[in-house]
Amino acid sequence: MEFQSRTQAIQISGIRKFSELVSQYPNALSLTIGQPHLPTPEHIRIAAQRAIGEGDTGYTPNRGTLALREAAATYYRRLIGIDYDPATEMLVTVGATHALDIAMRTLLQPGDEVIIPAPAYPGYEGIVKLLGAEVVYVDTRQDGLLLTEDALRQAITPRTRMVILASPVNPTGVVYPRERLQALAEVLADTKVWVISDEIYCELQFAGSPTSISLLPGMRDRTIVIHGLSKSHSMTGWRIGFAFAPANVSAEMAKVVQYGVSCASSVSQRAALAALREGADDARPMRELYQHNRDVVVALFAAMDIPLVRPDGAFYAFPALADALGDTSEHIAHRLLAEAGVAVVPGDAFSPFGEGYVRLSYACDPDVLREALRRIEAFVAHAGRA
Ligand code: PLP
Repeated sequence: MEFQSRTQAIQISGIRKFSELVSQYPNALSLTIGQPHLPTPEHIRIAAQRAIGEGDTGYTPNRGTLALREAAATYYRRLIGIDYDPATEMLVTVGATHALDIAMRTLLQPGDEVIIPAPAYPGYEGIVKLLGAEVVYVDTRQDGLLLTEDALRQAITPRTRMVILASPVNPTGVVYPRERLQALAEVLADTKVWVISDEIYCELQFAGSPTSISLLPGMRDRTIVIHGLSKSHSMTGWRIGFAFAPANVSAEMAKVVQYGVSCASSVSQRAALAALREGADDARPMRELYQHNRDVVVALFAAMDIPLVRPDGAFYAFPALADALGDTSEHIAHRLLAEAGVAVVPGDAFSPFGEGYVRLSYACDPDVLREALRRIEAFVAHAGRA
């Protein structure tokens, strides 16, 4: 039977497509995946086993257990300085993805415009389109891959409902300095535009301490802050995220949770409780390792004279490799895989403004990274320049 669906407006993301293609190349090394290569810390896994042993396996409140919300409120207050009431301003979600989803379901109407600095994480576009709203990508390539206040001002129209900011950014690893957030906040102060602040990578920031646009004057009441344990505690499969929002918005979001998933997994919530209560240092070994990996990647692309904005967080690098070789992102990614045995994600998976680039994830063992970079270097030497 023929049918029409909003789902036809979206595609499976290019990240998934390429990470799945790797399995067809048995000797290929994959730099595609957006998750830490280390397992979830043992104390967290043990806490989950204990929850199962104790039969803590029932529904929890829609917002998540109060114990977990309280632990998250304390954890992120210490880490960033954000201050939210666990009873009325916080939700435990099924990963950060679910937090993004319920925030947008709560705030967006069909026809609304959503400003997204690009290149950008493709998960945002999918949700916006499913809701019948429109993505307005703002090209940041000439501005060091960061949204400027002028570009934001120019992109705002009477239909703009929201801007989605992330820091550190997937796929580029760039971090918004506080002064830039301040300048963006000043532009937004005169508008009725909401902000989603995706801070999922904040514990994997290599310099400076994490901050949040929600802390700037006038911003708290118009911002939804997104966090989660997928990256900081190597917990991608546990599916635990958090949404911090003003009480009136949070109450609406709680209804969306009720009719969507009821609650996040009770066992995962117990694991998350251990992560937040006893795992304040869990991210440190990863951060140190990925900073080292970042330095190795930056040095290689500098030596090859291929433009790369230095990533200051997350575990991605976004070199203009395809541009340098005079080819398209998609074609270069295919060639790298087939000819050099290295899988990367083509830049156009991150909006049309990612064309000319590829994304490398260096969330991997340093030996794997070294060998993958050796292969990329040989490929570039062989492929020559445009
Ligand atoms: N936000 C960004 C910027 C991401 O890169 C990702 C995952 O890659 C997510 C959100 C989703 O995180 P989660 O796995 O917790 O749903």
